[in-house]
Amino acid sequence: MLMPPFELHHPVSVEEAVALASDLLQRGEAFDWVAGGTDVLPNYKWRINTKPHVISLAKVVEAHDMTSTSIGCTVTIERLVSSPDAHPLLAEAGAKIASSLIRRTATVGGNLCLDTRCFWYNQSEDWRRSIDWCHKADCGTGADCRVIPNQNTLCVATYQGDLAPNLMALEAKVVLVGPQGQRTIPLVEFYELDGMKKNTLAEGEFLLRVELPEDASQRVGSYQKLRVRESWDFPEAGVAASWIPGDVGSLRIATTALESIPRTHVEEVEAHLGGNGNKVDVKALAVSIQKSVKPVNNTALPPAYRRKMVRVLTKRALSALGDLG
Ligand SMILES: Cc1cc2nc3c(=O)[nH]c(=O)nc-3n(C[C@H](O)[C@H](O)[C@H](O)COP(=O)(O)OP(=O)(O)OC[C@H]3O[C@@H](n4cnc5c(N)ncnc54)[C@H](O)[C@@H]3O)c2cc1C
Ligand code: SF4
Repeated sequence: MLMPPFELHHPVSVEEAVALASDLLQRGEAFDWVAGGTDVLPNYKWRINTKPHVISLAKVVEAHDMTSTSIGCTVTIERLVSSPDAHPLLAEAGAKIASSLIRRTATVGGNLCLDTRCFWYNQSEDWRRSIDWCHKADCGTGADCRVIPNQNTLCVATYQGDLAPNLMALEAKVVLVGPQGQRTIPLVEFYELDGMKKNTLAEGEFLLRVELPEDASQRVGSYQKLRVRESWDFPEAGVAASWIPGDVGSLRIATTALESIPRTHVEEVEAHLGGNGNKVDVKALAVSIQKSVKPVNNTALPPAYRRKMVRVLTKRALSALGDLG
């Protein structure tokens, strides 16, 4: 399949990237960011929402920096998996992303900004034309959503990235840079419950790096993933959990691949800590998280099965954390 034509820009610094973005916006020219390209370029080959300009972050020097508490957006998944600086939970999750070949190119920033997925959308142009398109890539036809028809405002495509729930369980923040300056927000506030908008990035803004709190290194975690083929598939459901051993109040659980956004389960966790705050009712907590997620029928496995598996994955993740009381 051939790549559509677009103009590729290669800034070498954050300032240059932001200036390029501002200039294109002022000229009314649409663009996409690209990092490893393992998500956006296959979509381009399928003529899905292509843009005339693409700004690559690959040569932005600061974006490659990595320490134990700061991960630049262009750090590759392979580097994350093999670096002694990476938190063990991130190394575990990274090793479960795609295949070894893709992990060499795929980046942390691209993973967090991954486009939402849907089997009516991630298809070739001919296939999508044959079903008269869908709301997220309607080619000017005003086509309806194929998953939840007759509402035509929302897209319920699924976020299927693996790193986000793990970074949420480690209480990570993201640093965003754009024409309006720089801001830092908790990762849990980064996503937006609409498969088309996906996240809170403003026009021309990009995700520069992820920051972890100092005490993240004390956290022990586990990531449990359901997928069709263990060798490379996207998650069909994913549960990340972490805690500071001995302190059940520090328990954090987050899920992915079940809705348009990855998210934490603060209320469910709080409801199942024992009365004296030092015990966790693992079985009841797993059921409660299962009940809270609402997968729809737009990925490889049926939503009822994915939902059922959330209970199993939660129990597995919690049992890997050690004695929760
Ligand atoms: C066969 C296959 C299997 C896969 N399996 C998995 C899997 O198991 N788990 C998983 O999580 N992913 C999987 N992926 C998806 C993808 O490879 C990874 O999520 C990867 O980490 C994306 O990173 P990238 O740098 O290649 O992103 P790109 O393709 O470069 O970008 C992805 C999206 O993010 C935007 N973007 C990129 N960087 C930034 C930034 N810094 N700021 C703002 N926007 C940005 C782009 O505009 C684009 O919309 C798979 C892909 C393939 C092809
Ligand atoms: S959820 Fe609906 S609008 Fe979104 S990609 Fe799927 S069919 Fe299209």
